Amino acid sequence: RQHARTALVTGGNRGIGLETCRQLSRAGLHVVLAARDLARGQEAARGLRGAGGTIRVEELDVTSGKSVRECARRLADADVEVDVLVNNAGVYPTDGFLSMSEETLDHALDVNLMGAFRTCRAFVPAMARRGYGRVVNVSSGLGAMTDNVPSPAAYGISKAALNALTLVVSSAAPPSVKVNAVCPGWVRTDMGGSWAPTSVEKGADTAVWLAQLPDSGPSGGFFRNRRPIDW
Ligand code: NDP
Repeated sequence: RQHARTALVTGGNRGIGLETCRQLSRAGLHVVLAARDLARGQEAARGLRGAGGTIRVEELDVTSGKSVRECARRLADADVEVDVLVNNAGVYPTDGFLSMSEETLDHALDVNLMGAFRTCRAFVPAMARRGYGRVVNVSSGLGAMTDNVPSPAAYGISKAALNALTLVVSSAAPPSVKVNAVCPGWVRTDMGGSWAPTSVEKGADTAVWLAQLPDSGPSGGFFRNRRPIDW
């Protein structure tokens, strides 16, 4: 029997990230719940124990290259191989372009784009060497430029850039490493608010599916409700 895969989820302490940890654990994967605040991560993990595979909590602030590298080092020292990377951590500044400050754009790019860049650089080379990997970038329909240009300017730009990163990493990685982006829909979390129509369970579903794609699965795609959508 194939050994259980290990999935690392950034921003795993609440919202879609925590639910992704729960569903992956139920599916029998080992989960590394990564949180920028270790105590918040440990508190969140308490509710997951016993769901399925093991849960390990790691401190990981995606805005810090040092934090990402130190997390990767601790995992390597413990012989934990990250087979699946879910780049879920995100921020949602709502300012439009005319009122947006440089700092707002800078921070959105730092978390939503550079965060995924840093974790991909830390974990994808080893996936490529080992011949198995799944990367899921939690993006947004607001990063697609196909219909309406998004009004939260920094957010839209950062998620469009995350979509571009998805394609670049997908084409750089071997076919054994599948790299895809997902729009979870408008989901009831702290970010989405209580009016959002989609439950957190449904919001995590496509990310969880992409995290476990078979070898014949797609790479370099953008998905919502398990279906491809336009960039
Ligand atoms: P939440 O605001 O509920 O959770 C965001 C998570 O990201 C938290 O765990 C937060 O940690 C973490 N985070 C923020 N900054 C950092 C950082 N520097 N390093 C590590 N973690 C960080 O958001 P959601 O669960 O709703 O969103 C998850 C993803 O889904 C995001 O990428 C978002 O853009 C995307 N999305 C969400 C939609 C929705 O309707 N909810 C719609 C479309 C996309 P902490 O608790 O420490 O702040």
